[in-house]
Amino acid sequence: MTAEVINGKELAQELRQNMKEEVKKLNEGGINPHLSVILVGNNPASRSYVKGKEKASAEVGIQSELIELEDSITEDYLLEVIEELNQNPSVHGILVQLPLPEHIEEQHVIEAIAPEKDVDGFHPVNIGRMMTGQDTFLPCTPFGIIKMLQSKNISIEGKHVVVVGRSNIVGKPVGQLLLNEHATVTYCHSRTKDLMKYTQSADIIIAAVGKANFIGEEHVKNGAVVIDVGINRLNDGSLTGDVDFDAAKGKASFITPVPKGVGPMTITMLLYNTIKAAKGLS
Ligand code: NDP
Repeated sequence: MTAEVINGKELAQELRQNMKEEVKKLNEGGINPHLSVILVGNNPASRSYVKGKEKASAEVGIQSELIELEDSITEDYLLEVIEELNQNPSVHGILVQLPLPEHIEEQHVIEAIAPEKDVDGFHPVNIGRMMTGQDTFLPCTPFGIIKMLQSKNISIEGKHVVVVGRSNIVGKPVGQLLLNEHATVTYCHSRTKDLMKYTQSADIIIAAVGKANFIGEEHVKNGAVVIDVGINRLNDGSLTGDVDFDAAKGKASFITPVPKGVGPMTITMLLYNTIKAAKGLS
């Protein structure tokens, strides 16, 4: 079997085209979707992610502003900046690029963002709403993965999904969203014994570990769907996922590549959430 590749870049472009139309209509009604992005310090990876978000926002007509703050700012100062944005009615979405410098407590910052402007979907109120299956801002990477599965009419109901990784931003929420779609979900992580026992019985594998080539052909059941969330930089500067793509492709029915897989979908769902915020839904 050779897997069909789910091209996240193409799907993202398709969705962004529709969003462009939607933003145009909102503009006509006097609503100008606006995203404020806060970048603290000078982490090159964070800077490049933020640039990608600004570029994608512009592409669909979302106004974005980048607020750059020094590494040395205090947590209180950052919380004040967030509070001003919370109070500003022309700002619909607020995103604080993670990670933050060590002296700033990430959770304090996440909880300072007004839930109705939390376009990353990380605020505990929005996570709680997601857990209980209510309408809310869904975290962008897990939401993008659901869209990728739906784009290929891959059925989720009753399927055994194995999520490798349990971070708050990817692993845990993607498992929850798939559970909401009636999958049977198994979470694996660094303390899991005999990982392969689980992945080999998976109809859908979500790899969110952060280790190049971590999932090999031997982990994959014939015909399984393999979603690769990982972004790992190799010594030659190129990017690769958590899955040994060429090997797994020979066994899977569908597979996502890196790059051009989950990454572009993550940014696209941020745009979706910003438009949703501008419409006043949360
Ligand atoms: P974290 O480092 O927060 O989480 C990694 C997870 O992998 C942890 O739960 C960890 O387990 C688990 N893990 C580590 N080693 C093993 C092992 N040997 N066996 C099983 N599980 C293991 O990473 P993130 O969730 O933030 O990100 C994961 C990857 O996805 C990264 O490469 C990141 O760059 C990428 N990413 C991609 C995005 C995209 O848009 N494509 C968006 C966000 C992230 P434990 O909890 O026990 O430590």
